[in-house]
Amino acid sequence: MCSRCGATADGLPVTWTCSVENGGRLYFCDDCVRAHLRAIESRLDSSWW
Ligand SMILES: [Zn+2]
Repeated sequence: MCSRCGATADGLPVTWTCSVENGGRLYFCDDCVRAHLRAIESRLDSSWW
């Protein structure tokens, strides 16, 4: 399940991104990754978005 928009998918699509924050793993769908690519690459916590 996407940690940002709540989208669900079977298994873990390769287009999804895994982010480790506060010791936990968060997953973001391809749509959210595209929308927040810069923030993700800057390794900002999703709470900052
Ligand atoms: Zn999403």
